[in-house]
Amino acid sequence: MKKHPEIDALLRSLDASVLKRYGQNFLIDDFIIQKTFATLALQPGETILEIGPGLGALTKHVPFQDHTYISYEIDRQYHAYLTKTYTTNTTHHLGNFLKAVSETVDVILGNLPYYVTSDILEKIFKDFPIFKRGVFLVQKEVIERLIAQPGDNAYGPLAILVQSLGEIQTITDVHPASFYPEPHVTSTLFLWTNNHHVSVEVARPFFYFLKKLFLNRRKNILNNLTFINGAKEEKTRQLQALGIEDNRRPESLTIQEVWMVYDAFKSQITL
Ligand code: SAM
Repeated sequence: MKKHPEIDALLRSLDASVLKRYGQNFLIDDFIIQKTFATLALQPGETILEIGPGLGALTKHVPFQDHTYISYEIDRQYHAYLTKTYTTNTTHHLGNFLKAVSETVDVILGNLPYYVTSDILEKIFKDFPIFKRGVFLVQKEVIERLIAQPGDNAYGPLAILVQSLGEIQTITDVHPASFYPEPHVTSTLFLWTNNHHVSVEVARPFFYFLKKLFLNRRKNILNNLTFINGAKEEKTRQLQALGIEDNRRPESLTIQEVWMVYDAFKSQITL
């Protein structure tokens, strides 16, 4: 493996190491870092949330004097370093972002750890959906899952939630050599822009519904709606009233149809 003397020296000084289990691949490509901030297009006064700042590859470019900055970093040593290094208008949380308490932020930023990317995106869009935009670096296959369309294998709860709430724009693919250590796969930088401003109160139960609806992809919609209160015949009638056959598979529903089904049945869901 190629070495990176600067990062290795910093790690040694912190008595830290690179942990595979935390998906620690540091961004070392200035072009991608610049592209990330150009895409983010920060406006003075915006509150920034960064997930997994690591050793600060992105963090060091934040104009802290103009922003409130919040981060979640799971690695104790990295967190100690961030807390010491970036002190203006910052709150650095030590811990797992999946356990973060929902709060209002304007923009979200992250070179996301690959082992938990989908869970992190799920958490963001379920618990922070009111943020304005986000720029994320993920494995290329993840973006394919996010932009999946009805009928695609990857089409499911996360694609529907993310596309329902906003718009995805792929910015650029990122070669493994842009990271230290190098991952085995290509990554993609993408921008998500909120254009619906859905509240957490709406996004959370909708996502719960989506998870249940797609629990068994081989079953038809009717048989996936067993978690909805009411008789089967009545559910068939409700679906027919929407112009939707009860024997369709969940992945055949367009996003608009999913919302129609959700709106028709939401009062019959016990959370
Ligand atoms: N942002 C840095 C960069 O671009 O060089 C590091 C990115 S690295 C791909 C992912 C970072 O997320 C690591 O610092 C890792 O420790 C942290 N991390 C991993 N799992 C996490 C979790 N569940 N919650 C918060 N941080 C996490």
